[in-house]
Amino acid sequence: MTDIALATPIDAPLHAKPSLVGLTRAGLAQALAAIGVPEREQRMRVGQLWHWIYFQGATSFDAMLNISKVLRATLAEHYGLSRPEVVAQQVSVDGTRKWLIRMPPVDARDKGAEIECVYIPESDRGTLCVSSQVGCTLTCTFCHTGTQKLVRNLSAQEIVQQLVVARDMLGDFPGQTPPDDGGLIPAGEGVRAVSNIVFMGMGEPLYNFDEVTDAISVLTDGEGLSLSKRRITVSTSGVVPQIGALGEEAGTMLAISLHATNDELRNTLVPLNKKYPIRDLLDACRNYPGASNSRRITFEYVMLKGVNDSPAEARELVRLLKGVPAKINLIPFNPWPGTQYECSDWETIEKFSDIVFNAGYASPVRTPRGRDILAACGQLKSETEKLRARARLALDDEDEIAAD
Ligand code: SAH
Ligand code: SF4
Repeated sequence: MTDIALATPIDAPLHAKPSLVGLTRAGLAQALAAIGVPEREQRMRVGQLWHWIYFQGATSFDAMLNISKVLRATLAEHYGLSRPEVVAQQVSVDGTRKWLIRMPPVDARDKGAEIECVYIPESDRGTLCVSSQVGCTLTCTFCHTGTQKLVRNLSAQEIVQQLVVARDMLGDFPGQTPPDDGGLIPAGEGVRAVSNIVFMGMGEPLYNFDEVTDAISVLTDGEGLSLSKRRITVSTSGVVPQIGALGEEAGTMLAISLHATNDELRNTLVPLNKKYPIRDLLDACRNYPGASNSRRITFEYVMLKGVNDSPAEARELVRLLKGVPAKINLIPFNPWPGTQYECSDWETIEKFSDIVFNAGYASPVRTPRGRDILAACGQLKSETEKLRARARLALDDEDEIAAD
């Protein structure tokens, strides 16, 4: 592991100029209208900005040579192309990278929300795990994010900015140079370092539906960031009323955090189950627009020792999913300080996965990635907070010494 947290004190300034990076086409048109660009010109100008911001990854208006000098100057006077700050980066021996990103404060009282983002390189793809909220209102008992109280929803702009930051950090825009990491980041002609996105960071994406779907429209726009909808997966703990709408409006892949095969256990692991029990959840999955054998729904199942990992539960899982075009993802539990759970033993996971495999489901166990940098939900933030607390203590000590 390299590059531990840069635990700087939080006193981010209010950004003087709003950034255009991360805005939707409608948002850019509004920004142009606000500086007096006439309506008949706006579409064309939005197209130009779009190309520079999302295709080229421009960080300065000066680069935008097909936009007149006068308009470039007006843009620069009112707006910026800044990205949120990367406060900490950790790089795992397996190439997994974790960034703690601080969003600019939204008002004078806001210290700047911090969220985490994980990048997982594999030989044929690079997956970015993004957050949709700061914290989470839900309280799944095995999830560290569930212990943090929600600070706020992220805006579509802040969700898109996570990909822009990742592309910057990975040298993934045209003309940039990727970091030298011994070939772990996928690269080559026409290969993107970030090819896939999963909404599996902090937060429940379907509780921030409008911003998440707006962000997806920017991420998948063919003239900009150009991610395929089939390579974006939205993971939900089971917000049943929004599942169909996600398929209709965003058309992305769906992942369900199932984790239990009966309502009694799921009520304790994923308390939202009391509102939307397993039967309703699976009905929504059966009706998910676009689901088919070539577009399967992923069912996530976290392996908790002695809680949900028996062979009988593996068989029940297979039975439950009959008739749903499904993939099963067994996730070894990633422990965090203070948790009551442990990860199942490897033999138990193998036995469980054999039952699932023999029932016809491929690739069941998600290899733990970035274990050395605690690349699980909510952990970078808490680690950094610990470092900060230590730094603060050290400062207090100094104060005391000074006072003596
Ligand atoms: N709120 C959404 C998306 C974010 S959580 C959801 O719950 O689906 C992304 C995935 O990580 C979920 O499947 C979640 O159950 C799982 N997860 C959370 N904490 C975990 C931990 N400590 N170890 C392993 N997986 C965890
Ligand atoms: Fe929220 Fe998902 Fe964690 Fe549950 S698992 S607390 S829904 S982030």
